[in-house]
Amino acid sequence: MINITLPDGSVRSYESGVTAHQIALSISEGLARNVLAAEVNGEIWDSSRVITQDAHVRLLTWNDSEGKSTFWHSSAHLMAEALEALYPGTKFGIGPAIETGFYYDVDFGDREFSSDDFKAIEEKMLALAKTKESFTRKAVSKADAIAYFQEKGDEYKLDLLEGLEDGNISFYTQGNFTDLCRGPHIPNTGFIKAIKLMNVAGAYWRGDETKKQLTRIYGVTFPKASELTEYLQMIEEAKKRDHRKLGKELELFTFSEKVGMGLPMWLPKGTALRERLVQFLTKAQVKSGYEQVITPHIGHKNLYVTSGHYEKYGKDSFQPIKTPQEGEEFFLKPMNCPHHCELYKFKPRSYKDLPVRFAEFGTVYRYEQSGELHGLTRVRGFTQDDAHLFCTPEQVKEEFKKVIDLVLYVFKSLGFDNYIAQVSLRDPDNKAKYIGSDENWKLAEQSIIEAAAEKNLPTVVEYGEAAFYGPKLDFMVKDALGRKWQLGTIQVDYNLPERFELEYTGSDNQKHRPVMIHRAPFGSLERFVAVLIEHCAGNFPLWLSPEQFIILPISEKYEEYAKKVSNELNNSDIRGLIDFRDEKIGRKIRDAEVKKLPYMLIIGEKEAEEGKVSVRKHGQGDLGSMTIAEFSALIIKEITV
Ligand SMILES: [Zn+2]
Ligand SMILES: [Zn+2]
Repeated sequence: MINITLPDGSVRSYESGVTAHQIALSISEGLARNVLAAEVNGEIWDSSRVITQDAHVRLLTWNDSEGKSTFWHSSAHLMAEALEALYPGTKFGIGPAIETGFYYDVDFGDREFSSDDFKAIEEKMLALAKTKESFTRKAVSKADAIAYFQEKGDEYKLDLLEGLEDGNISFYTQGNFTDLCRGPHIPNTGFIKAIKLMNVAGAYWRGDETKKQLTRIYGVTFPKASELTEYLQMIEEAKKRDHRKLGKELELFTFSEKVGMGLPMWLPKGTALRERLVQFLTKAQVKSGYEQVITPHIGHKNLYVTSGHYEKYGKDSFQPIKTPQEGEEFFLKPMNCPHHCELYKFKPRSYKDLPVRFAEFGTVYRYEQSGELHGLTRVRGFTQDDAHLFCTPEQVKEEFKKVIDLVLYVFKSLGFDNYIAQVSLRDPDNKAKYIGSDENWKLAEQSIIEAAAEKNLPTVVEYGEAAFYGPKLDFMVKDALGRKWQLGTIQVDYNLPERFELEYTGSDNQKHRPVMIHRAPFGSLERFVAVLIEHCAGNFPLWLSPEQFIILPISEKYEEYAKKVSNELNNSDIRGLIDFRDEKIGRKIRDAEVKKLPYMLIIGEKEAEEGKVSVRKHGQGDLGSMTIAEFSALIIKEITV
């Protein structure tokens, strides 16, 4: 008999050779029907694999991310089976699960392939799924595996086999299709009920441009047809909310090839929105003891030699700007930290001065390949809501707590209520690759974990994900469509204080190195605005909205009154505009709806006589007529929530 420990801590005993599927059956039949795979002592296994010793077992279903990825990876095998049946002679590269769905890289030889072929493949996959073929695992020797793929003439699998160790190789077969794979897979293809191929692209074998370009086919599958429908609706909604599309429609930002790819330019409305974000954060930061600083957009080469960036990134950055006479070299600044280190060194610092907190909305430039650029989320120039905190090792925890407060305040104010933080720590088995003393690392890691716990921040801890220069905490938000975005970050740095020889005088009258903390609640203004646009579908919170109202006079007779209303609202710090066009009122309302203007104030004879406005709220409709003072009060109440 062996003991199986389940995630709730309960221990059950089974005969040696039990499978995860049988364990599930012993709990309930319903559960057994839904088990896709199992985590056995930290490894993901087929639910049919026998367990022969005491183990911790977690049964994985569609609700677990590992369950989903096993499902999608198995779907890649199913697609390969369909491709082989439809197009004999197809050769296969790799077929992993991805964040949503899966792909397979295949070589069709001379055959042309396009998305027009998707339908036939989907139908074949569904037909094969209906036969509920099991995925069966078989350990094979390296020699047998090579012989199998030589016979088949699949050079990609042979290439993969070269890197594998004999004794560690397995085949999986479902139906007529056998693949080289370490698994795991779902029990049988019958679990796959809904299939959609999404996209086709070219992909070099092993990502190497000198190797052959294969055809990468992306797909997604679900255990229920209704889930596919919901997924496709979500994609449609995401297209409507695409920040590149809304950015244009709402006149927020633009790009120009003449100016240069990946260099966003903010139009007046976008600038108004961005300025408001800056003011909002500046105010919060000043309250938290930050000091605003300004540094130039370029820095001397020596600055980056000292910081180490020149050696590490110099070749892959924008290349230096040279002075015409002195032969000096300058770089566009890729980050603000080196400048801030020099600001710290402006005068001697004592422990009594710490923490020193320098904040700057610093615009930085980083070279990205043109193919990687994407709207405001991947750009070549962007503005970080940056700050650098210089403190003693003992102050790290308190500073983290304060930054967490600030980040959560930002999220709350902007309607992101679904977030999680990732704590990235050292790889405990490879401490040598990190700079800084063991003692300081321990203190910092402990400080971060405690700070997050004391702030009730939902966290996941990842070992080995820390930067070489220090541990960090990254914030991930889920948007209204359930998509995950990485936003703000807080990072400890032992490297730059060392390189810049930063010091403070301690209470012992000795010189000490301060700890440096980099932090950016938004990450960058560009990325944050992109995520915000897609999260709220362009319906910004009223306080942030570039325009809060639009006045729609029914005819030109009421223009004077419209101006009077506008002036009065402006005097109360409420922003908006007047639609003076000679258009029918219905048209004006429709246009204002498209522009997502939060409030429409309709003005006709009755309103002008009574000194009132008829108010319509975007997405809600008519709120009735009210005096200007009443409307002001309504707005002020909404923005001070
Ligand atoms: Zn596989
Ligand atoms: Zn920094």
